[in-house]
Amino acid sequence: MLGGMQDFELRVPRLIDHAAREHGARELVSYWADGRETRTTWSGIARDARKLAQALEKLGVAAGDRVATLAMNHAHHLVAWYGTIGMGGVIHTINPRLFDEQLVYIANHAEDRVMLYDKAFQPLVDRLRGQWTSVRHYICFDDLGPDGFQALLDAEDGDYDWVEGPERDPCMLCYTSGTTGNPKGVLYTHRSTMIHAMAEVAPWVFDLSPSAVVLPVVPMFHAAAWGLPFACALSGAKVVYSAVNDPAVLCRLMNQERVTHSAGVPTVWLAMFGHMDATGQAPEHLKLVTIGGSAAPRAMIDRIMRMGADVKHLWGMTETSPIGTAGFAPPHWDDMTHDEKLDLVGKQGSVPFGIELRIVDDAGKVLPRDGSIAGKLQVRGPWVVQRYFGADADAVDAEGWFDTGDVAMLHGDGTMQITDRSKDVIKSGGEWISSVDLENAAVGCPGVAEAAAIGVYHPKWDERPLLIVVRKPGSEVAEQAILDHLAGHVAKWWLPDAIVFVDELPHTATGKLLKTALRDRFKDFALA
Ligand code: ADP
Repeated sequence: MLGGMQDFELRVPRLIDHAAREHGARELVSYWADGRETRTTWSGIARDARKLAQALEKLGVAAGDRVATLAMNHAHHLVAWYGTIGMGGVIHTINPRLFDEQLVYIANHAEDRVMLYDKAFQPLVDRLRGQWTSVRHYICFDDLGPDGFQALLDAEDGDYDWVEGPERDPCMLCYTSGTTGNPKGVLYTHRSTMIHAMAEVAPWVFDLSPSAVVLPVVPMFHAAAWGLPFACALSGAKVVYSAVNDPAVLCRLMNQERVTHSAGVPTVWLAMFGHMDATGQAPEHLKLVTIGGSAAPRAMIDRIMRMGADVKHLWGMTETSPIGTAGFAPPHWDDMTHDEKLDLVGKQGSVPFGIELRIVDDAGKVLPRDGSIAGKLQVRGPWVVQRYFGADADAVDAEGWFDTGDVAMLHGDGTMQITDRSKDVIKSGGEWISSVDLENAAVGCPGVAEAAAIGVYHPKWDERPLLIVVRKPGSEVAEQAILDHLAGHVAKWWLPDAIVFVDELPHTATGKLLKTALRDRFKDFALA
């Protein structure tokens, strides 16, 4: 027997229709790489998306085809998402900071038909277009001439009906950055994207409403900008985009547009702190800052909270659309001390409805959720990957559990705490040392700007921690001072056997510490 309710396929174009109908006048501001500032609205985005859908059909793009972008955050990029998805296509955001070899692999593997790109990436396009075998059309977003994106839109009237279909159709393709092996594509469905967006607007996650003004620093090519382009349409929030990630520009935009919500990886806030220290300026209207992609150090959470904003720690990955967990205020929040709040926000939060987590040991035995032990973190839910794009086998076990490659602890109150990536954990005499905890403690030491902990070979213990530190400008903090500081925060046997100072640490294309490069560089480091 069927139920008696309407069949309402969860299709992404419904989001942009809703935003245009209910919040049509709400603004989207774009700051472009050439310093221009433009304004549109949710109804403007919806109109332009229909025009793009018409234009893509004329270019021969068919339902299911992939349309790639190599672009920073701006309104045209958002139009590309909704226009492509609206005509039944699949929007494929490529991270322009990847190596050439990966960029070639990804676009060919995805069989992208159209490449939409920012002028800033023209040299990259010129260099690689000979190797991209499936791309038929190249269109520049910020070319204002007759071959540019705006001219493509201007040639259409926008009289277009979105393509309808089942909610399990694909709508978006994102590749993981592939720190090991080739990048893998995760093909989101309309359904997974919609359910994820509905979960994201909740107070538990991004806390979005029509009164929110959101500046997502997280790029649209990094795990779908954490789903914010969908969640902001759903909630009717005002959006402020910047195509450049200069903290001076971001700070000015935040104050000019009275930005209340922002989201980005930890390095973004490090850069903002540098700007604040150098100029005395600060974002003044922030209510909620969400940090994810890597663990947010305690000192960072502390500083943002002291600026008067709430801080939410998000954990997730491309394979989870990407929201897995988010920080939330428990019922006794107001009775907690500042330090207790920092302890809680420093963990990765708990699951919104839809996501299930468990930890297992090396043999696959499920471990207790009482904060006593760390294990391999597994996840399942309606917005978690089932099978990578083009793969011939599922990426999950028979019960749908996906192994995240993270090591975590689950606490009795449901809070999840990432202790490491499986491949980064430091194994000393058979026991695990959390590189993340060491790094977090180290950046709390005055004079330390950034720190990375890796395991290096030790004849007796197999591996021991080496801490690699970037000092703050002007600081001369010494090894002993850092060790003394760490001694107050971690077990004695976790203390690094050596500390080396460097000018800069290597990062991945999404701003995470590139531990593979560090392990390579220090592989012959001899511990005394
Ligand atoms: P990439 O950026 O490398 O393409 P993802 O963005 O999918 O890939 O990275 C996901 C990984 O990032 C997670 O498995 C986890 O290791 C790490 N990560 C994400 N958020 C957090 C967080 N809040 N704390 C610690 N680690 C995190």
